[in-house]
Amino acid sequence: MFKKILVANRGEIALRIMRACREMGIESVAIHSAADANALHVKYADESVCVGKASSAESYLRIPNIIAAAEITGAEAIHPGYGFLAENAEFAEICAENDFTWIGPPAEVIRAMGDKATARSMTTEAGVPVVPGTGLVDDVETAAEWANGCGYPVIIKATAGGGGKGMRVAWDEAELRKNYVAARTEAGAAFGNDGVYLEKYLVNPRHVEVQLLGDRHGKVLHFGERDCSVQRRHQKLIEEAPSPAVNDDLRGRMGEAAVRLAAAVGYHSAGTVEFLLDEDGSFYFMEMNTRIQVEHPVTEMVTGVDLMKLMIRVAAGEPIGFDQSDVVVEGHAIECRINAENPERDFMPCPGRILYYHAPGGPGVRVDTHVYSDYQVPPHYDSLLAKIIAHGKDRAEAVARMRRALAECVFEGLPTSTPFHLEVLENPVFLAGAATTRFLEEESSHLQEGLRVRAISEEG
Ligand code: ADP
Repeated sequence: MFKKILVANRGEIALRIMRACREMGIESVAIHSAADANALHVKYADESVCVGKASSAESYLRIPNIIAAAEITGAEAIHPGYGFLAENAEFAEICAENDFTWIGPPAEVIRAMGDKATARSMTTEAGVPVVPGTGLVDDVETAAEWANGCGYPVIIKATAGGGGKGMRVAWDEAELRKNYVAARTEAGAAFGNDGVYLEKYLVNPRHVEVQLLGDRHGKVLHFGERDCSVQRRHQKLIEEAPSPAVNDDLRGRMGEAAVRLAAAVGYHSAGTVEFLLDEDGSFYFMEMNTRIQVEHPVTEMVTGVDLMKLMIRVAAGEPIGFDQSDVVVEGHAIECRINAENPERDFMPCPGRILYYHAPGGPGVRVDTHVYSDYQVPPHYDSLLAKIIAHGKDRAEAVARMRRALAECVFEGLPTSTPFHLEVLENPVFLAGAATTRFLEEESSHLQEGLRVRAISEEG
């Protein structure tokens, strides 16, 4: 096992990795930007190295500085977390070239899955259903021909896309022609790659994803699914496990499909296969995330498995010491992402000082956060403040615990998305387990009205 791991990240995920290290008797090295000198992950780590200026491009994304930090501190392995360099195949290769173990999947799989058009064709070859669609489409006439043949709506997606960016829906040919050009321009600007492809746009699907873990000896297991249908502009806000729409039979089939894909591409480490689950119960591959995800805790809560420790173990070459039949999903877990943003003002990010922070507690509540009282939220990074995870014997208990936990939670000094979560947790569609990816759009006026009432009653 490793003696020392460098964590190439910040925020709650850096702490999550360091906590796993501490439980395993592994020392951790933090890297940080000049703006993060007082960050909790820096205080928590055994050692820390400043790798550059405040902006991510000059610090958390600066590969030579990170490699130098690993060399200076004598770390043996590098954990990238999520975001930043986690899905950067070149970084994975550079780590290996410099004799650091990359705590993640093989670089060539990261590269292949990072290109969505390639990922689609590899998935099809593995016999896993993908949303009906095209390969790369180089001109608008071909796009229109395909869309007219399959019928509208369709979605234009950037092959290099991620984080919900570079996607445009078209409901008719005129819109397709307009959005095709817009999508290519947008993709070129955002990703330096203007390749796009088309998919049939499913009108009312759920986002259901399967957690995987593979070792370096060819074993891949799945850990059930997460439902991440509550999204805003294709970004997840609430995740839960299991999905209210998935029964044992479907779980088995989706899990088997995800494992088949992972085995076909020679996957090891933690990863996630994202599917769209259609109203008729069909599911289609959407993409594979070759990293640990933000929402991994809900899976940990319902399976009792520590994915982060396992991810480190398999990177060190240890085999997974149990079988698929040992993975049992028990109870229900929900995660709310608390962001420093104002849900009443279209979720505008609001970095600032947290004058006072109080964490919720009690049975079935887990908090993954990097904030503390008097912490200045830097404006340079994402707005995630905390993940509140509630676990209960069933969905109703998990919901009740989440409501209680959110009400206990105090972030004084800046607006957060907490009131929004409280609204969702009272929404009849959500409570019925019927939310699809259209939920936020469809329930928007109810949710906004609820937020207004909540704000008035809090002022009073
Ligand atoms: P990204 O990598 O940018 O997150 P994804 O391919 O994972 O993009 O898609 C993000 C979200 O966009 C999905 O969770 C879903 O809500 C929506 N989406 C993507 N493709 C489709 C589709 N073909 N039909 C309907 N919704 C889609």
